[in-house]
Amino acid sequence: MKYIGAHVSASGGVENAPINAHDIGAKAFALFTKNQRQWVSAPLTTTSISAFKANCERYDFSAKHILPHDSYLINLGNPDPENLAKSRKGFLDEMQRAEQLGLELLNFHPGSTLKQISDEACMKLIAESINLALDKTKGVIAVIENTAGQGSNLGFEFEQLAFMIDHVEDKSRVGVCLDTCHSFAAGYDLSTDKGFDETFAHFQEVVGFNYLKGMHLNDAKKPLGSRVDRHESIGKGTLGLLPFKRIMHDPRFDDMPLILETPDESLWAEEIRLLYSL
Ligand SMILES: [Zn+2]
Ligand SMILES: [Zn+2]
Repeated sequence: MKYIGAHVSASGGVENAPINAHDIGAKAFALFTKNQRQWVSAPLTTTSISAFKANCERYDFSAKHILPHDSYLINLGNPDPENLAKSRKGFLDEMQRAEQLGLELLNFHPGSTLKQISDEACMKLIAESINLALDKTKGVIAVIENTAGQGSNLGFEFEQLAFMIDHVEDKSRVGVCLDTCHSFAAGYDLSTDKGFDETFAHFQEVVGFNYLKGMHLNDAKKPLGSRVDRHESIGKGTLGLLPFKRIMHDPRFDDMPLILETPDESLWAEEIRLLYSL
């Protein structure tokens, strides 16, 4: 069974996210549990937390199919010690918010060298940041998203995802989210049957489907290997419908959140219907 949804708005309170997801016919959703462009947000209130849980139950969303996304400001591999500490504090807050909401996953972009340290040193910092947050929380899995490899962002090669996982102590609480647009931008050709088969065979070999906790379903604006992160609506970009059709027919993507982060949110309901029709 496929659980498709979108990254919906939590404006007015996290409790609105499940309502917004239900309104577009989603069976899964992603959300920010705080303002994604600010370091500090007010703590979640007990009223908001219980309303969130009640709405999830009412509209039949289970924790397994909800994929909160952390703030864009956080860089768990920041080479500057002061900024690294700030990011680690912010990440712990995100993990704790997920925990308070009874969620099981937290999706984040691994981090960036800022061209000041080696990729390997940066990935070790990222893994250590994950270890520190896992030590102080319970039940939430840190879900590393693969990136487009734009700028000095790491995590665009499956080998890099595997390296970070390898350095996380508690393997039961680390996972991966693959973004179709990011994968294509990073050079994995999901637009053909051959490329799709090879990419996921390679993923299985290097990382393993046991670590796959969710997918971001986005078409891409830029060509294969562009290393540029620009999402496009499903079927309207350089990926086309093929990878989405393949995903919908592949049981390896069952029972996990499949989340649209496509640019035109007025199309989300239609895109969800389209995906189920494939
Ligand atoms: Zn994404
Ligand atoms: Zn993206």
